[in-house]
Amino acid sequence: MRILIISDIHANLTALNTVLEAADNFDATWCLGDLIGYGPDPNECIERIRSLPGLTCIMGNHDAATLNHIDTTNFNPEARAAILWTQNQLTESNAQFLSSLPEKIEINEVTLAHGSPRHPVWEYLLDNRTASHNFDYFNTDYCLVGHTHLPVLYTLADGNFPARLTIPEANTDLTLKPRAIINPGSVGQPRDRDPRAAYAIFDTDQAVWEYRRVAYDVNDVQKRMLAAGLPERHIARLSAGW
Ligand code: ZN
Repeated sequence: MRILIISDIHANLTALNTVLEAADNFDATWCLGDLIGYGPDPNECIERIRSLPGLTCIMGNHDAATLNHIDTTNFNPEARAAILWTQNQLTESNAQFLSSLPEKIEINEVTLAHGSPRHPVWEYLLDNRTASHNFDYFNTDYCLVGHTHLPVLYTLADGNFPARLTIPEANTDLTLKPRAIINPGSVGQPRDRDPRAAYAIFDTDQAVWEYRRVAYDVNDVQKRMLAAGLPERHIARLSAGW
Protein backbone atom coordinates (compact mmCIF):
# COMPACT_ATOMS: atom_id res chain seq x y z
CA MET A 1 0.00 0.00 0.00
CA ARG A 2 1.11 3.53 -0.77
CA ILE A 3 -0.03 5.80 2.03
CA LEU A 4 0.00 9.57 1.86
CA ILE A 5 1.29 10.97 5.16
CA ILE A 6 0.34 14.57 5.95
CA SER A 7 0.60 16.57 9.16
CA ASP A 8 0.21 20.12 10.48
CA ILE A 9 -1.82 21.44 7.58
CA HIS A 10 -2.84 24.43 9.70
CA ALA A 11 -5.71 25.64 7.51
CA ASN A 12 -3.43 26.33 4.53
CA LEU A 13 -5.53 25.16 1.57
CA THR A 14 -3.03 26.36 -1.05
CA ALA A 15 -0.30 24.15 0.43
CA LEU A 16 -2.69 21.21 0.92
CA ASN A 17 -3.96 21.30 -2.68
CA THR A 18 -0.40 21.53 -4.01
CA VAL A 19 0.61 18.48 -1.97
CA LEU A 20 -2.42 16.49 -3.14
CA GLU A 21 -1.66 17.28 -6.77
CA ALA A 22 1.99 16.34 -6.38
CA ALA A 23 1.28 13.15 -4.41
CA ASP A 24 -1.36 11.88 -6.88
CA ASN A 25 -0.70 8.08 -6.68
CA PHE A 26 -1.71 6.74 -3.24
CA ASP A 27 -4.21 4.25 -1.77
CA ALA A 28 -4.89 5.72 1.66
CA THR A 29 -4.24 8.85 3.72
CA TRP A 30 -2.94 9.15 7.26
CA CYS A 31 -3.22 12.63 8.73
CA LEU A 32 -1.27 13.30 11.92
CA GLY A 33 -3.31 16.24 13.25
CA ASP A 34 -3.34 20.05 13.43
CA LEU A 35 -5.65 20.41 10.47
CA ILE A 36 -6.39 23.98 11.58
CA GLY A 37 -4.92 26.95 13.47
CA TYR A 38 -2.70 29.72 11.97
CA GLY A 39 -4.16 29.63 8.44
CA PRO A 40 -7.21 31.20 6.75
CA ASP A 41 -8.99 28.08 5.40
CA PRO A 42 -10.09 25.88 8.33
CA ASN A 43 -13.39 24.59 6.87
CA GLU A 44 -12.00 24.12 3.37
CA CYS A 45 -9.01 22.14 4.67
CA ILE A 46 -11.11 19.89 6.93
CA GLU A 47 -13.57 19.21 4.10
CA ARG A 48 -10.77 18.43 1.63
CA ILE A 49 -9.13 16.06 4.12
CA ARG A 50 -12.44 14.37 4.95
CA SER A 51 -12.87 13.59 1.25
CA LEU A 52 -9.50 11.83 0.88
CA PRO A 53 -9.44 8.08 0.16
CA GLY A 54 -8.99 5.68 3.09
CA LEU A 55 -8.57 8.45 5.62
CA THR A 56 -7.25 7.84 9.12
CA CYS A 57 -6.84 11.05 11.09
CA ILE A 58 -5.80 11.90 14.63
CA MET A 59 -6.19 15.03 16.76
CA GLY A 60 -3.52 17.72 17.20
CA ASN A 61 -3.16 20.32 19.93
CA HIS A 62 -4.60 23.11 17.76
CA ASP A 63 -7.60 20.93 16.89
CA ALA A 64 -8.12 20.16 20.59
CA ALA A 65 -7.74 23.83 21.58
CA THR A 66 -10.23 25.00 18.95
CA LEU A 67 -12.75 22.56 20.44
CA ASN A 68 -11.93 23.87 23.93
CA HIS A 69 -10.70 20.39 24.90
CA ILE A 70 -7.55 22.01 26.22
CA ASP A 71 -6.88 25.41 27.74
CA THR A 72 -5.94 28.04 25.14
CA THR A 73 -4.01 30.07 27.73
CA ASN A 74 -1.16 27.57 27.19
CA PHE A 75 -0.65 28.97 23.70
CA ASN A 76 1.35 32.06 22.85
CA PRO A 77 -0.81 35.18 22.25
CA GLU A 78 -0.66 34.97 18.46
CA ALA A 79 -1.45 31.25 18.28
CA ARG A 80 -4.30 31.92 20.69
CA ALA A 81 -5.65 34.75 18.50
CA ALA A 82 -5.64 32.37 15.51
CA ILE A 83 -7.48 29.74 17.56
CA LEU A 84 -10.17 32.24 18.62
CA TRP A 85 -10.57 33.34 14.99
CA THR A 86 -10.87 29.69 13.91
CA GLN A 87 -13.50 28.96 16.56
CA ASN A 88 -15.72 31.62 14.98
CA GLN A 89 -15.31 30.15 11.49
CA LEU A 90 -15.77 26.45 12.13
CA THR A 91 -19.01 24.86 10.92
CA GLU A 92 -20.91 22.54 13.26
CA SER A 93 -20.24 19.56 11.01
CA ASN A 94 -16.49 20.22 10.88
CA ALA A 95 -16.32 20.76 14.64
CA GLN A 96 -18.05 17.40 15.09
CA PHE A 97 -15.56 15.76 12.75
CA LEU A 98 -12.64 17.13 14.80
CA SER A 99 -14.30 15.99 18.04
CA SER A 100 -14.49 12.45 16.69
CA LEU A 101 -10.73 12.18 16.16
CA PRO A 102 -8.68 9.90 18.43
CA GLU A 103 -5.47 11.15 20.08
CA LYS A 104 -3.49 8.05 19.19
CA ILE A 105 -4.20 5.05 17.00
CA GLU A 106 -2.59 1.86 15.68
CA ILE A 107 -3.19 1.06 12.04
CA ASN A 108 -1.47 -1.54 9.79
CA GLU A 109 0.90 -2.15 12.70
CA VAL A 110 1.99 1.50 12.77
CA THR A 111 1.29 3.90 15.66
CA LEU A 112 0.10 7.43 14.88
CA ALA A 113 0.31 10.24 17.46
CA HIS A 114 0.44 13.99 16.87
CA GLY A 115 3.13 14.95 19.41
CA SER A 116 4.54 11.74 20.86
CA PRO A 117 3.32 8.26 21.75
CA ARG A 118 3.77 9.13 25.47
CA HIS A 119 1.77 12.38 25.48
CA PRO A 120 0.02 12.38 22.09
CA VAL A 121 -1.39 15.90 22.05
CA TRP A 122 1.33 17.91 23.77
CA GLU A 123 4.84 16.49 23.89
CA TYR A 124 7.41 17.79 21.39
CA LEU A 125 10.07 15.37 20.16
CA LEU A 126 12.86 17.88 19.65
CA ASP A 127 15.88 15.92 20.85
CA ASN A 128 17.30 12.42 20.88
CA ARG A 129 16.83 11.83 24.53
CA THR A 130 13.12 12.62 24.62
CA ALA A 131 12.58 10.61 21.45
CA SER A 132 14.54 7.64 22.85
CA HIS A 133 12.35 7.48 25.96
CA ASN A 134 9.26 7.47 23.81
CA PHE A 135 10.15 4.11 22.25
CA ASP A 136 8.77 2.57 25.46
CA TYR A 137 5.33 3.98 24.71
CA PHE A 138 4.46 2.14 21.51
CA ASN A 139 4.62 -1.52 20.52
CA THR A 140 4.72 -1.31 16.75
CA ASP A 141 7.81 -1.15 14.52
CA TYR A 142 7.07 2.44 13.52
CA CYS A 143 5.47 5.47 15.10
CA LEU A 144 4.56 8.52 13.01
CA VAL A 145 4.37 11.94 14.65
CA GLY A 146 4.00 15.61 13.66
CA HIS A 147 3.79 18.66 15.96
CA THR A 148 7.34 20.04 15.70
CA HIS A 149 6.94 20.77 11.96
CA LEU A 150 10.47 19.36 11.48
CA PRO A 151 11.04 16.35 9.22
CA VAL A 152 13.16 13.85 11.17
CA LEU A 153 13.75 10.16 11.68
CA TYR A 154 14.74 8.62 15.04
CA THR A 155 15.96 5.03 14.83
CA LEU A 156 16.54 2.68 17.72
CA ALA A 157 18.15 -0.43 16.28
CA ASP A 158 18.44 -3.57 18.48
CA GLY A 159 17.43 -1.66 21.56
CA ASN A 160 20.51 0.58 21.39
CA PHE A 161 20.15 3.73 23.44
CA PRO A 162 19.87 6.57 22.59
CA ALA A 163 18.15 6.66 19.22
CA ARG A 164 19.93 7.93 16.12
CA LEU A 165 18.65 11.14 14.63
CA THR A 166 18.54 11.58 10.86
CA ILE A 167 17.43 14.73 9.09
CA PRO A 168 16.52 13.47 5.64
CA GLU A 169 17.38 15.37 2.50
CA ALA A 170 14.38 16.68 0.59
CA ASN A 171 13.00 14.43 -2.13
CA THR A 172 14.88 11.30 -1.15
CA ASP A 173 13.62 7.80 -0.37
CA LEU A 174 14.59 6.14 2.92
CA THR A 175 14.38 2.43 3.55
CA LEU A 176 13.03 2.06 7.07
CA LYS A 177 14.31 -0.43 9.61
CA PRO A 178 12.52 -1.20 12.87
CA ARG A 179 12.18 0.55 15.15
CA ALA A 180 11.70 4.18 14.19
CA ILE A 181 9.80 7.36 15.01
CA ILE A 182 9.28 9.43 11.88
CA ASN A 183 8.02 12.97 11.31
CA PRO A 184 6.99 13.93 7.75
CA GLY A 185 7.25 17.69 8.45
CA SER A 186 4.44 20.20 8.02
CA VAL A 187 2.21 20.78 5.00
CA GLY A 188 1.01 24.25 5.91
CA GLN A 189 3.62 25.78 8.18
CA PRO A 190 7.14 24.32 7.71
CA ARG A 191 9.67 25.37 10.36
CA ASP A 192 12.98 24.03 9.07
CA ARG A 193 13.83 27.15 7.05
CA ASP A 194 12.51 25.53 3.88
CA PRO A 195 9.19 27.18 2.94
CA ARG A 196 8.11 24.29 0.71
CA ALA A 197 5.23 22.09 1.89
CA ALA A 198 6.41 18.77 3.37
CA TYR A 199 4.76 15.36 3.13
CA ALA A 200 5.66 11.71 2.62
CA ILE A 201 4.44 8.62 0.86
CA PHE A 202 4.92 5.53 3.01
CA ASP A 203 5.16 2.37 0.91
CA THR A 204 4.25 -0.22 3.53
CA ASP A 205 5.13 -3.26 1.35
CA GLN A 206 8.71 -2.08 0.72
CA ALA A 207 9.08 -0.16 4.03
CA VAL A 208 10.17 2.86 2.01
CA TRP A 209 9.57 6.42 3.19
CA GLU A 210 9.41 8.81 0.23
CA TYR A 211 10.05 12.19 1.81
CA ARG A 212 8.90 15.03 -0.42
CA ARG A 213 8.96 18.84 -0.54
CA VAL A 214 6.91 20.85 -2.96
CA ALA A 215 6.84 24.61 -3.56
CA TYR A 216 3.41 26.24 -3.39
CA ASP A 217 2.07 29.77 -3.92
CA VAL A 218 2.86 31.21 -0.47
CA ASN A 219 1.66 34.67 -1.49
CA ASP A 220 -1.80 33.29 -2.30
CA VAL A 221 -2.39 32.08 1.28
CA GLN A 222 -0.70 35.16 2.80
CA LYS A 223 -3.23 37.40 1.02
CA ARG A 224 -6.15 35.50 2.57
CA MET A 225 -4.49 35.62 6.02
CA LEU A 226 -4.10 39.38 5.73
CA ALA A 227 -7.73 39.82 4.65
CA ALA A 228 -8.87 37.68 7.60
CA GLY A 229 -6.84 39.82 10.03
CA LEU A 230 -4.73 36.91 11.23
CA PRO A 231 -1.50 37.67 13.19
CA GLU A 232 1.22 39.24 11.07
CA ARG A 233 4.01 37.04 12.43
CA HIS A 234 2.26 33.89 11.17
CA ILE A 235 1.86 35.49 7.74
CA ALA A 236 5.52 36.53 7.51
CA ARG A 237 7.03 33.25 8.67
CA LEU A 238 5.48 31.27 5.80
CA SER A 239 7.84 33.01 3.32
CA ALA A 240 10.92 31.81 5.17
CA GLY A 241 9.61 28.49 6.51
CA TRP A 242 10.35 28.92 10.20
ZN1 ZN B 1 1.23 22.11 14.40
